[in-house]
Amino acid sequence: MEHLAELDKKHFIHPTSSIQQQQANGPKVIMEKGEGIYLTDINGSEYMDAMSSLWNVNIGHGQDELAEAAAEQMKQLAFSSAFSTFSHEPAIRLAEKIASIAPDGLNAVFFTSGGSESNDSAIKLTRHYWRIQDQPERRKIIGLKRAYHGVAAASTSATGIKEFQEMAGEMMTGFVHTETPYEKTADEAIHDLRQTIETEGPDTVAAVMAEPIQGAGGVLIPPDDYLRQVRALCDEYGILFIADEVITGFGRTGKMFGVENFSITPDLMTFAKGVTSGYLPLGGVIVSDHVHEMLKEKSKGTLFHGFTYSGHPTAAAVGLKNIEIIERDGLVENAREMGGQMLRAFEKVQSELDIVGDVRAKGLLGAVELVQDPATNKRFSPDQQAAPKVIDQLHERGMICRPVSFEGTDIICFAPPLIINREQVHTMVEKLHDAVFAVQKELQVKG
Ligand code: PMP
Repeated sequence: MEHLAELDKKHFIHPTSSIQQQQANGPKVIMEKGEGIYLTDINGSEYMDAMSSLWNVNIGHGQDELAEAAAEQMKQLAFSSAFSTFSHEPAIRLAEKIASIAPDGLNAVFFTSGGSESNDSAIKLTRHYWRIQDQPERRKIIGLKRAYHGVAAASTSATGIKEFQEMAGEMMTGFVHTETPYEKTADEAIHDLRQTIETEGPDTVAAVMAEPIQGAGGVLIPPDDYLRQVRALCDEYGILFIADEVITGFGRTGKMFGVENFSITPDLMTFAKGVTSGYLPLGGVIVSDHVHEMLKEKSKGTLFHGFTYSGHPTAAAVGLKNIEIIERDGLVENAREMGGQMLRAFEKVQSELDIVGDVRAKGLLGAVELVQDPATNKRFSPDQQAAPKVIDQLHERGMICRPVSFEGTDIICFAPPLIINREQVHTMVEKLHDAVFAVQKELQVKG
């Protein structure tokens, strides 16, 4: 451990992490093994992975079938190009499979290696869609505050969390952000969206982009009719709607895709994470028939957009097997059922403790907010570190969760693997109760 920690400090620049903290303390945990909903570190400590790692290990860890699918494909054809006139069976089959499970009218897939690339691709495809119709001025993307769409050029620009935008200074041009129905009501958020479209000029807007449920923003579940109203506004102004399903896709919310909870169909839908349950990097954009038709008719010559790994055969083979397992093992239904149980357990914790504000879940995507006073929703001050303290307490109890603590919120997020069972949900929320109780005592004593 000592040796690995030193090498880590010397050579490994971690994603989304504090470099100074790493240099001071080294890595807190070095993981070694995963099995089901559990991870084990190199010291033999076991953790319940209540976040499916990065919201992605949907079918759980240690699934031999995916390892076998990868090995088989690697031996047969590990990699081959999908550029230009080349193709191969795994990508064709996966595209067909995704078309068959996506909402009606979404039937063609562009592949990438992850969520950021998918969102950049969706944004560029959207701008291309307008350019080939001689409307190049339609290039603005309207995103939501607190949205997270990734860290590539366009996806960072679309992200509505200022820390990500400030990291490298100037962003791409043509991105604006509108209110969410979190701090505001759905009506106010819709009003703000209409104002934004009008102020920017409807003829300059290419697309509105949103996660059906904002994940990294704090698992913000919109009121039932919010996305329908967004869709209606897009239709009114002839603007495309891009749904970012990177977290919500592949069963997470108790439906195969998050938009199904809100009965809307986007024009483009991006995915990643759960498509392979994280066993290999893969993502993509599913486009609707009318967008595809337009591309077929008017995108002349080469489409100058493609990644070396667009349609990677081995990743595609793993994706196919992963979706087969999700369907075969009824994991979407399990997410719905266990999600319901998780939410009821959250509500019990809310009724028993003094510092639990809103609790929410859609399928196995949930959150618990910590507040100083649930009656008035008065928040803790950032220096009280309420959410990070609960995360530390959970860690001591052998559980990995994620805090969202920007802009004054203290939110504990939950996204356990879709294979979780009743007893495990019970244990997970029991640990949450004990961790929050410990922090409540500490904060109340400090008063
Ligand atoms: N969109 C959403 C909604 C996400 O949650 C994420 C990652 N957490 C991304 C995009 C970016 O995906 P990636 O990290 O695979 O680039």
